[in-house]
Amino acid sequence: MARYTGPSCRLCRREGMKLFLKGTKCYTPKCPIEKRGFPPGQHGQLRIRLSDYGVQLREKQKVKRIYGVLERQFRRYFSLAQKTKGVTGQFLLEMLERRLDNVLYRLGFATSRKEARQVVRHRLVAVNGRLVDIPSFSVRVGDVIQVRAGANGPSERFKATLERTKDRPVPAWLQADAEHLKGQILRMPQKDDLGLPIQEQLIVELYSK
Ligand code: ZN
Repeated sequence: MARYTGPSCRLCRREGMKLFLKGTKCYTPKCPIEKRGFPPGQHGQLRIRLSDYGVQLREKQKVKRIYGVLERQFRRYFSLAQKTKGVTGQFLLEMLERRLDNVLYRLGFATSRKEARQVVRHRLVAVNGRLVDIPSFSVRVGDVIQVRAGANGPSERFKATLERTKDRPVPAWLQADAEHLKGQILRMPQKDDLGLPIQEQLIVELYSK
């Protein structure tokens, strides 16, 4: 599968905000946006006024990168959101947030969404007692998430992860039981739960042209 393999925090500079793509690097002054808060590349320091299209495109790219979703899947989420009653942009965000990899990250059982995807692919996660190895799996209200390595207390690997994520708050739509690496979906996520400065209407405008 095609994916970006360059330096994660170069993307932080491109989008002008910390994206938290790589473990805890963005939480430290090592994230290069701290020292060089302008876009990467030869023309990064020129002040360029983006067109409406440019602004919409950057917003879409930012959200895709945060959730680690490629264009095709992102488009699929968007067309599903369009078919759903209610506000398209909000439903788009809800679907991204409901991804199993994101849920593991939000529960603090992985330091990044990228690491969470690995944990899922390595067949370590069960939903309602059944193994799920698809990172895009969409959780529902009431679902119980269990990292299988945690049934008898977290393994060394997960102890280290929990140590690194312990100060990161778990959003109110989830309930985390770190001791047993278990989590539950209490309700659907709302935009306010995301804690991310996303202007989803820009993405709707982009795709509605
Ligand atoms: Zn960064």
